[in-house]
Amino acid sequence: MVKAPIKTDEANAGGVNKPPALDIEREALDHVWIHQAPWIDIAEKDGLHVFDRGEGIYLYDVRGREYIDGISGLWVVNAGHGRKEIGEAMAEQAGRLAYASAASYTTVPATKLAAKIAELTPGDLSRVFFSSGGSEAVESAIKIAKQVQAMRGFPRRYKIIARRGSYHGMTHGAMSLTSSRNELHFGPFMYGVSYVPHPNRYKSDFGVEGEQADIMAAKYVEQEIESQGPETVAAVIAEPISTSAGVHVPSKIYWQMLREICDKHGVLLIADEVIDGWGRCGTWFAMDQYGVTPDIMTMAKGLSSGYAPIAATVVRPSVFEVFQTNREAYFGHLLTFGGHPVAAAAALKNIEIMEEEKLPERAAEMGAYLRTQLEELRSHPTVGDVRGVGLLQALDLVSDKATKTNFGRGHKFTDRVSDLLNERGFLSRVWGVLNIAPPLVVNKAEIDKIVTIIDESLTIAEGEFASEIKG
Ligand code: PLP
Repeated sequence: MVKAPIKTDEANAGGVNKPPALDIEREALDHVWIHQAPWIDIAEKDGLHVFDRGEGIYLYDVRGREYIDGISGLWVVNAGHGRKEIGEAMAEQAGRLAYASAASYTTVPATKLAAKIAELTPGDLSRVFFSSGGSEAVESAIKIAKQVQAMRGFPRRYKIIARRGSYHGMTHGAMSLTSSRNELHFGPFMYGVSYVPHPNRYKSDFGVEGEQADIMAAKYVEQEIESQGPETVAAVIAEPISTSAGVHVPSKIYWQMLREICDKHGVLLIADEVIDGWGRCGTWFAMDQYGVTPDIMTMAKGLSSGYAPIAATVVRPSVFEVFQTNREAYFGHLLTFGGHPVAAAAALKNIEIMEEEKLPERAAEMGAYLRTQLEELRSHPTVGDVRGVGLLQALDLVSDKATKTNFGRGHKFTDRVSDLLNERGFLSRVWGVLNIAPPLVVNKAEIDKIVTIIDESLTIAEGEFASEIKG
């Protein structure tokens, strides 16, 4: 077996009762399959953090190093790290009842959680199918759309329209909706998926400016439904604001048009709120800001702030109706851990904290402050755009402001920026954009610290890559 080199500086900070940091890092490199990082890269760069503890917006690794969690894990830990009361609620539930079959029964915490979700989601969304993660919530949504269309008398409506750049997860069906799917390793994908352009007012696909760019993107959805044949289309799926597509915030009219277009053609509208939901955008759900109720909504991550794996697919009564009027009918889907009582107890406590501390409102307020500070960074030659909503913010990093040429994922410049941020104690994802999405408990002093670290890191990287940067 190939062993990766581990640097020994700062190692063995584990304390008397813990295994030395070096040993646990060694074990991690030897046995843990890190989901998306190239193994050789993390091993050689000494870049694998084994985290041991979290508090507020901070993470602490086994060497005792402190990091600001700049994207809340993966846009997950909305209520912040170290919430002991969530752990206590989980322990109490596990001691009382840890599991009952999700196929035929439910439990007290799952029932209370479903009712709470029905209360907080927009419009008449009210029927909740539980699962364990965002990909499962998306799989459930596309299967609901297909089965409901078939049971309504349209068995040929099986196609799904998704957007280029959006991300919906990595299980096979969800990955089929993700336009960056990897044909080489995993094709062929689910049949009947097609893609439309993503709304983008910074660099429009249509060469138009402002809201017109969003209107064109919405019109394209209708064109695609018509060209596929409306009688074959089950659903349109989109994130209200897509992180993977670069945190473009569409105008209100975009989502209103999508609603009208779907209604006109008998197509179900799915809003994937896996990242956007649960306060991240400054409201409980991003769709609240668009005044649009989707037929189906997916959620995960912030639902429990990551304290337990739980997700949900929520539908309107008009979607569930076919199951209420057919005696024999049930949804052809079963996930053993759906609505797990311990995870539901974690989610309920998390939502209670969010309500008590008004975390969605706090995200709006702190997001506005963060945005003002980030706007100052436009003076950098590589900051082409600053955009986002609430505590879902991003810098578009470009090599040429005039042509708006993005460096793109994996460019040496963006990798260097990522390393510099990391060295200064700020963890984020720097792909096409530099993401800034700390836990919703972040305060102004912490925001100032984040912006200073980004400012410094950009300045250093821009100096090193000066010959590749125009403007
Ligand atoms: N949908 C969206 C919008 C996401 O961002 C993600 C994950 O980042 C998923 C679905 C998949 O969620 P999970 O990784 O929990 O399966």
